[in-house]
Amino acid sequence: MSKNKKIILAFVCLAVIGGALYSTTYSIKKHEKSVQATKINEENIRVSSAAKAKEVAEEAALAKVAKAKEVADAKAAAALKAKTKKEETAKALAEKTAKVDAKLQVKTEENKKNSNSSQKVVVIDPGHASVTSSVTEPQSPGSSTMKVKEPGGAQGINSRTPEYVVNMAVAVKLRSLLQAKGYSVVMTKTQNSQMLGNIARAEVGNKANADLVIRIHADSNNNSSAKGASMLVPTDAKNTDSIYTASKKYGQIVFSSLVSGVGMNNRGVVERDDMTGFNWSKVPVILVEMGFLSNVNEDKLLNTDDYQAKIAKGLADGIDNALK
Ligand SMILES: [Zn+2]
Repeated sequence: MSKNKKIILAFVCLAVIGGALYSTTYSIKKHEKSVQATKINEENIRVSSAAKAKEVAEEAALAKVAKAKEVADAKAAAALKAKTKKEETAKALAEKTAKVDAKLQVKTEENKKNSNSSQKVVVIDPGHASVTSSVTEPQSPGSSTMKVKEPGGAQGINSRTPEYVVNMAVAVKLRSLLQAKGYSVVMTKTQNSQMLGNIARAEVGNKANADLVIRIHADSNNNSSAKGASMLVPTDAKNTDSIYTASKKYGQIVFSSLVSGVGMNNRGVVERDDMTGFNWSKVPVILVEMGFLSNVNEDKLLNTDDYQAKIAKGLADGIDNALK
């Protein structure tokens, strides 16, 4: 072969080889590209599905939150409803209670009115007894001063009538007059032989929750010229402070009615802190000394039915004035 032919052949060969190489390279590259594309595609799908999964998960999470919120809202609404209902119930109950209270108040006022108008309580305490007692009792709650329960009373200077007889006679007359005026009357004793200590007498008034306790006595003095009536009332000392004002006021009114009604000597209203029957009393209490059994004239008068009736009327009118 000629040199030229050889060159041409070589060229042709190179061309063929080059072409083949190119073709192979292209093919490989194309394949690589395809693989690459597939990979990208796969990646895309993977990313896409991951995104999708994430989206689904997020949606699920959101749904869960929403559901939880819904449940919470429902619970809150139910709680609010329950609270409102509870408040409404409480309000209704309060209104009902207020109504009942108002009704009760009216009823109490009515009862008070009724008892005020017709049934005030007066306790009558006829002094002394046909028997005496040397047993002692404290002059006031907590006191160490002891006084004899029943030393016995006065006696008519001429009549020799014991004080308890006169006291009971006037007390019984007074009871009738007060009952006729509509008062509820309680006697501390109805028999001369009944011996009560002064604490026991006070307890009768306390238990009856008396509007007034009136103690009935007659006086005595070594000086036979002493005469007339006096009214004893408690002082404003510790034990009787709460009954002092009413007792004194009632005492003054009753005493004024007595002395003007009977026309007797006025010895005044006297405050006393040494009377056991006063110091143990929790209700207004007064003690009338109707005159002197040691005085000839008054001894005679106090033994008559007329004079006793006059005294009883003076006291009853006075009590009625005081408690009106
Ligand atoms: Zn007496």
